[in-house]
Amino acid sequence: MIYDISMRIHEDIQVYKNKEVKKPVFKNASNHNNSSAYETKLDMNLHTGTHVDYPFHMIPEGKTSDAEILDKLMGSCKVLDFTNCEDSITKADLMKHDILENDFLLFKTKNSLSDEFLFDFVYLDREGAKYLKELKIRGVGTDGLGIERNQEDHLTHKILLGEDIVIIEGLRLKDIEPKSYEMICLPLKIQGVEASPARVILKD
Ligand SMILES: [Zn+2]
Repeated sequence: MIYDISMRIHEDIQVYKNKEVKKPVFKNASNHNNSSAYETKLDMNLHTGTHVDYPFHMIPEGKTSDAEILDKLMGSCKVLDFTNCEDSITKADLMKHDILENDFLLFKTKNSLSDEFLFDFVYLDREGAKYLKELKIRGVGTDGLGIERNQEDHLTHKILLGEDIVIIEGLRLKDIEPKSYEMICLPLKIQGVEASPARVILKD
């Protein structure tokens, strides 16, 4: 089976803190009445919808989208069930799971159950991020539009991105059974930026 776990991009897509400036704007560039071809222009924040965050997002000297990380974005991954977490995913929550070096983890939380932005979305707290860094995982994906919320200095981002641990944000995991899959995550090949929209697919 193939499971598409990406968000659909449209004008009313949920965006971080419902900020109007983060909503994508579609503009017709030419149409069948005024041209021989129909074309659309899209104005969109790179953190809208499902996307990969690169280290430069939080670290001034960090790597950008020019870094070649497809080897990290393709391969086995584990969907972990955290639908019982109300506020954040902690080290204690993570320790209940079998996590190994080089794992790519996808967190299924209550975030996946809502198509509206949740101001109290479930996030990974900084002690959890430190634990994952010690375990040397290769990446983490979340069904929140952020891997963290309201933490001073964005420590979860910095702990993970500082180790070149990949972060995918904005996944949709409502119908996905927690288990192991083959993941294909392909961020758009945009030069020298801090994030890139991605299509993410699971196979079993
Ligand atoms: Zn982001």
